[in-house]
Amino acid sequence: MFRFMSQDPSQTIARLVETLGSDSVISDEAGMANYLNEPRKRFHQKSPAIAVPKDVAAVQALARLANAEGIPLIPQGGNTGLVGAQVPLFGNEVIVSLARLDRIRDINAAAGHMTAEAGAILENVHKAAEAEGGMFPLWIASQGSARIGGLLSSNAGGVNVLAYGNARELCLGVEAVLADGRLFEGLSSLKKDNTGYDLKDLLVGAEGTLGIITAATLKLYPLPQAYETAIVSLESPEKALELFYAMRDRAGSRLNAFEIVPWLGLDFQLRHGMLDRDPTADKSPWYALIEVAQPKGAEGHLLQGGLEAAFEQTLITNAVVAESEAERTRMWAFREQMSECQSREGASIKHDVSVPIAAIPQLIRDGSQAVKRLVEGVRPMPFGHMGDGNIHFNFSQPVGADPKAFMAGADPIHDAIYETVLALGGSVSAEHGIGQLKTGLLRKVKDPVALEMMRAIKLALDPNGILNPGKVLD
Ligand SMILES: Cc1cc2nc3c(=O)[nH]c(=O)nc-3n(C[C@H](O)[C@H](O)[C@H](O)COP(=O)(O)OP(=O)(O)OC[C@H]3O[C@@H](n4cnc5c(N)ncnc54)[C@H](O)[C@@H]3O)c2cc1C
Repeated sequence: MFRFMSQDPSQTIARLVETLGSDSVISDEAGMANYLNEPRKRFHQKSPAIAVPKDVAAVQALARLANAEGIPLIPQGGNTGLVGAQVPLFGNEVIVSLARLDRIRDINAAAGHMTAEAGAILENVHKAAEAEGGMFPLWIASQGSARIGGLLSSNAGGVNVLAYGNARELCLGVEAVLADGRLFEGLSSLKKDNTGYDLKDLLVGAEGTLGIITAATLKLYPLPQAYETAIVSLESPEKALELFYAMRDRAGSRLNAFEIVPWLGLDFQLRHGMLDRDPTADKSPWYALIEVAQPKGAEGHLLQGGLEAAFEQTLITNAVVAESEAERTRMWAFREQMSECQSREGASIKHDVSVPIAAIPQLIRDGSQAVKRLVEGVRPMPFGHMGDGNIHFNFSQPVGADPKAFMAGADPIHDAIYETVLALGGSVSAEHGIGQLKTGLLRKVKDPVALEMMRAIKLALDPNGILNPGKVLD
């Protein structure tokens, strides 16, 4: 599928400079490092250059050049992706950073939409929405760096999917440059538009393989007047599931987040000095972080009442309710530091998987047992978005083990977890995507007809295979 002319890197750089101008091309090693080093430090490849186009017309000119001369392009946002989709695989790809396209083009919080360019950083989008009395409800720990184009292209999830859906559901329209340089003008604030195939939804989640998103119309919601947030102590994932059902029945769409963390997560954070104060009530096998939003004008304490009922039904053994914004922030820090505390503890083998919500206790039980049978002393760390059926099912190395030797044994652990997930009707990638990390796995587990349809779409939109080659489909 990929037919690239063999181009010497200096020739590629010269053609990029001719097309975009020298102030839009980075080719020195130090300047390129930030674009090539990805968060997990798993993928190490070179690139001839980084293109930093200044506007949509420049992105179009770049695509026309690349399509004509067989220069592979990788769109990049904040470079926070976790599956190596935004960094080179072959070493001849040019990274296209959308960072300079970072304007908020328009905003109408009352009508519930805004248009942001692909390079807008999520945190800035939050601030722009809030300044107008609205809310863009996509919250992830990388929001200080992740950009709108990357968030949409990886269909990011995060902690509020339960109430608002993932990035796809928060997007009303996109503008994108196609592989041949044409502009797809799909910006729209319409909630209803049944005029044929949903092309926006093809580009969202495509990981930069079908087009380069340059702007998007995003959905805005009213800002809640307050949040009720709590960390509860629980005996087991089974109790957590029952509690989730009870809280959802009580709070409906106001239930914003339901995240679970095992004791080991607190233990790691305390031992590594990551918490200035323990946000939980006691030592417990499991914790759930629960948040309910209070819309303007609403009265009463939905969460507090729900927790009292849960205590009586012995679903929870203890609870702490945040009494200030500082306490709420402390509770969320405990959840958001889960990845970092595992890195500080040594090597960790990670899986971003989902199953039907009712199967989460079985996933955690079966998956933990299967891996414990493989590696003596391995420490299961299943945590995350229980309310979405999405568990980050990680395994920390045994205490004192050699990190390299532990990582060298990752394959049987992956097989055991993916087998468990598939047996429960789940997905091998819940929110991080496929990138270069899981292309082989996708080929093995995805319905063959679905794969054929995906290949046909790729060929139709990018016949020369210049957009993010080797990612998603290998
Ligand atoms: C600490 C941390 C926490 C995280 N938490 C979460 C989480 O809770 N939930 C979650 O879903 N993810 C999470 N992630 C993963 C990551 O932040 C998200 O996948 C995010 O959406 C990536 O955005 P980005 O701008 O960094 O994209 P990049 O990493 O730059 O790119 C990601 C993908 O999008 C493509 N792309 C980028 N820009 C464009 C564009 N303009 N047009 C077309 N394609 C484009 C790239 O080619 C690549 O395929 C986390 C990452 C970190 C480091």
